[in-house]
Amino acid sequence: MKNTEVAARKNEAISRGVGMTTQIYAARAENSEVWDVEGNRYIDFAGGIAVLNTGHRHPKVIDAVKKQLDAFTHTCHQVMPYENYVALAERLNKLAPGDFAKKTIFATTGAEAVENAVKIARCATGRSAVIAFTGAFHGRTFMGMTLTGKVVPYKVGFGQMMGDVFHVPFPLEMHGISVEESMDVLDKLFKADVDPKRVAAIIIEPVQGEGGFYPVPRALMKGLRDVCDEHGILLIADEVQTGFARTGKLFAMEHYDVVPDLVTMAKSLAGGFPLSAVTGRAELMDAPGPGGLGGTYAGNPLAIAAAHAVLDVIEEENLIDRANQLGARLKQRLESLRAEVSQISDIRGPGFMVAVEFGQPGAVKPNADFTNAVRLKALEKGLILLTCGVYGNVVRFLAPITIQDQVFNEALDIIEASIRECAEEAKS
Ligand code: PMP
Repeated sequence: MKNTEVAARKNEAISRGVGMTTQIYAARAENSEVWDVEGNRYIDFAGGIAVLNTGHRHPKVIDAVKKQLDAFTHTCHQVMPYENYVALAERLNKLAPGDFAKKTIFATTGAEAVENAVKIARCATGRSAVIAFTGAFHGRTFMGMTLTGKVVPYKVGFGQMMGDVFHVPFPLEMHGISVEESMDVLDKLFKADVDPKRVAAIIIEPVQGEGGFYPVPRALMKGLRDVCDEHGILLIADEVQTGFARTGKLFAMEHYDVVPDLVTMAKSLAGGFPLSAVTGRAELMDAPGPGGLGGTYAGNPLAIAAAHAVLDVIEEENLIDRANQLGARLKQRLESLRAEVSQISDIRGPGFMVAVEFGQPGAVKPNADFTNAVRLKALEKGLILLTCGVYGNVVRFLAPITIQDQVFNEALDIIEASIRECAEEAKS
């Protein structure tokens, strides 16, 4: 089988609305490596978009899922519940930020977690407005898409967005937007558009993911918490991309002295099996009446079994420490290129949620062409990279935290060579 043959069939069979980063069709995968249908090997620094913090097919995850496969695969928790769902909720209630009584619900996708968090916030506060940030990504469902702070490609052609959603500029110091300006716009929003007493929640990613791997400045997080406390607004941390050791903490919110009321999670929670969750203050989580929350596949038993194994692996293999070590090595390697590659405008990110931003030579003005060239050059050399950012000028690194040292070093060499070669080519 050839990648090009499948790609031709794909063009006939699948909506172009499903965008694709590569046309390399996967055949098998192990930890941080993937082989395509032609037998070519790739190092995977995309991790299925932040899903594989514990790598492809971690033996513990696979074992747990196999055991569950042999027991039962679906009953629907709302019909005939199962104990491991309850046990996972208990674990997340203990682990999620906040020293108060918590409860959890499970769903299937990140967008669904966001939808549910907003439903819970609206129900608990009796208010309907929600505030999000420019550059944010919260999913492709109607509320997720509305909350997302980027029009192209997410909102184009899809008609009227949900009502009562407002966006505040995300502070990007390097692009001239300060925390003070963001807080000032929020204040003006309360003066011009929406009574703060009508706002149910403010939703924020502690590190913007799709938006460019920009960590929320401490002053903004603190400012938002204060505004929330003043007006009885709930703070929702969308940890779908930042969760489960990626940032060098189990949850990225642990980097802040601020505790959210609700947390959304998905992606690396279940190591490749579809599972998402909302965990939050017990009294808020109990606001919707029985039947108001849930879903046929919500909290699928195979995915729940996988999530238990993922949490075990994070602890047993010290993946939080490992994320910090790997991130430091990656940043160091990128820093070593700064002097010679004038397109590098920033290197950032907590733990192993690292990104490099590219600008025009010697400037911060976004350089999407250079960024894409680096991604393609790395792909030629056998490394799968993802880009992100409102201007498409950021390469983000989402390798498994379980990556073997030897494979990691190989990847670092490819990253270095790809950036260097693109810089050379840009000169000529
Ligand atoms: N929130 C954040 C922060 C995300 O990064 C994503 C996915 N990139 C989502 C929500 C949506 O998750 P899903 O694609 O599983 O619906």
